[in-house]
Amino acid sequence: MPTDSAADPLARAVAQSASVAEVLIAPGAIAQAGALYRRHFTGPACLIADDASWAAAGPQAEAALNAAGIATRRHILAIPPRPKPTVELADSLRHMLAPGETPVSIGSGVLNDVTKHAAFRLDRPYLCIGTAASMDGYTSAGAPLSEKGFKKTIPCRPARAVLGDLDIIARAPRAMTGWGYGDLAGKVPAGADWIIADALGLEAIDTVAWPLVQGGLRGWLANPAAIAAGDPAAISGLFRGLTLVGLAMELHGSSRPASGADHQIAHLWEMEDLSQGGARVSHGACVAVGCSMTLRLYDWLLAQDLTRLDPSHADRAPDLDAKFAAITAAFGPGEIAARAAEETRAKHIDRAAHRDRIETLRRIWPDLAARLRAQLMPAAEMRAALHAAGAPSDAAEIGVDRAALERTTRNARFLRSRYTVLDLLDETGLLEQAIAAALPPS
Ligand SMILES: [Zn+2]
Repeated sequence: MPTDSAADPLARAVAQSASVAEVLIAPGAIAQAGALYRRHFTGPACLIADDASWAAAGPQAEAALNAAGIATRRHILAIPPRPKPTVELADSLRHMLAPGETPVSIGSGVLNDVTKHAAFRLDRPYLCIGTAASMDGYTSAGAPLSEKGFKKTIPCRPARAVLGDLDIIARAPRAMTGWGYGDLAGKVPAGADWIIADALGLEAIDTVAWPLVQGGLRGWLANPAAIAAGDPAAISGLFRGLTLVGLAMELHGSSRPASGADHQIAHLWEMEDLSQGGARVSHGACVAVGCSMTLRLYDWLLAQDLTRLDPSHADRAPDLDAKFAAITAAFGPGEIAARAAEETRAKHIDRAAHRDRIETLRRIWPDLAARLRAQLMPAAEMRAALHAAGAPSDAAEIGVDRAALERTTRNARFLRSRYTVLDLLDETGLLEQAIAAALPPS
């Protein structure tokens, strides 16, 4: 199905991608799996799924591949429990794959991420058959996996080809579509975080990746009720949006276009294996709540006048040793604290630079605030949209109490060297006030 790459941003992004050769999104697309495979892969296929994703798309995928003369083997993970996004699981898949076999992941977030990691370590391309519009990782050049308990985005090649059958995706559980909406919603505050880093001269906005995410974002988020109802056009927009976000990350070379404070907060819960009712809380649900909390911080920040900041705050701010002590207090000794210390060291600035930064903020605040207002939406508006999409918004909805939300928001910035609103609030001495204002009433 040739697409007009000049008019279609997704086709244009695929044309620019060094790794993704084709993204096929259409109703009934699974019937074309054999032809798609023949265009991009050789040899036999190993179909990797779990019980649920196999039921959603496995037999159709297998039949389509077999009909095209492609030999297949099944590797189906038993659930429950839902597979965990760990390097250990990815390694077990890598060892399971036979020489010359092409991995075909049939599923959504975790299955794609572990297959991506296994394929990359084998230096082999893989085919991704997405079964839900639940996250943005199908086309992204990284796998967010835990290794010895520390969650990080490990650089990997994305799928060479991605197939999204909109009939299958529309039948995915409503909650999963809500997760995808939540992951996309996070791009609103993540874009604001990038604007801050750009304005401070820390990380310039990339004019290729930015419009891929932010150009269509308000449109993809505009009709949450239709997404919840499984409306084909709305689901198609959501899946295409998530796919474009993945490509933006690959073209930019990091997850900056898609991930800021919202994801840092979410990653802490994911690293804790946050569970509810015996099931792990999904990435998209954690991001939805992280997004809401970040927007509440922004609501408060935008009501402040940063032209009146006191640069002498830099002289009273915690030094690196004090930050290390806070990290140890937050995470205890061990791998997580050690990694967090490295990330925090990478963005720590000395007192003179800190003073300069506050001076800069005082100077640029009117312009920066205007840019942020144009990017953001009020937290209350986002909360209503998330709920209409079937996604959570309040921490309590994913089983996180007020004290844990407070703790997570305070500690999330230690996880990544990436500069976000959490760093701006910390460096200006406003973080505790902002958190207190953003928390739900006790
Ligand atoms: Zn995400």
